[in-house]
Amino acid sequence: MSNDTLSSRLDQIRARIGHECVRVGRPAEAVRLVAVSKFHPASAVEEALTAGQRIFGENRVQEAREKFPALREHWPDLKLHIIGSLQTNKALEACRLADVIESVDRPGLVDALSRAADRLGQLPDLFVQVNTGDEPQKSGVPRHEASQFITLCKTRFGDSLKGVMCIPPEEEDPAPHFAFLAQLAHEHELIECSMGMSADFETAIAHGATLVRVGTAIFGTRPKP
Ligand SMILES: *Cc1c(COP(=O)(O)O)cnc(C)c1O
Repeated sequence: MSNDTLSSRLDQIRARIGHECVRVGRPAEAVRLVAVSKFHPASAVEEALTAGQRIFGENRVQEAREKFPALREHWPDLKLHIIGSLQTNKALEACRLADVIESVDRPGLVDALSRAADRLGQLPDLFVQVNTGDEPQKSGVPRHEASQFITLCKTRFGDSLKGVMCIPPEEEDPAPHFAFLAQLAHEHELIECSMGMSADFETAIAHGATLVRVGTAIFGTRPKP
């Protein structure tokens, strides 16, 4: 079989996740793969669905809307995670489209999501995104405010708040960032820890990731939007 089909790349990532779980003594079911399909066409997502992948990540609400409602008709068990910075005026639509929003990061967005919950009578699962490197250009709640913000989200969203997410600075060793995020999840008794991408998902698994978000290693280099 060709080594360079989407299906074989998915198999390879799954195998690497499995190996890392064994290596660090975690059960294989403890880590789920989010296939990050941003900028790739719906046909690529379909190929992944055919290969058995069910959880997908998209950065932008508009792109998610263009691709996913049609796919859901054929694959009702697919799950969509919004993983990109979310504008408050897109919160309602994000709640309609997504099963999980991983990028809750500021009080204004908390208010918008609360209003969406009132209108829809339900919410997707929510994660707090933490800017563990305190990078000015990156979204996420600043590191020193994370604990307080998680407490606020718990008060507002109760059990809908399921986890935390981070994207460590590109130039740094991600391990201390993953360790910090896992500790935060533990302190707040949150079950989900979304961390690790194509370049570092094994390190994230070693530090307790329950979801790894892998794009390039599955779909190849992203086409320019
Ligand atoms: C694009 C993206 C990913 C996937 O990154 P790759 O390096 O392509 O695996 C993961 N998480 C977020 C938040 C992203 O925006």
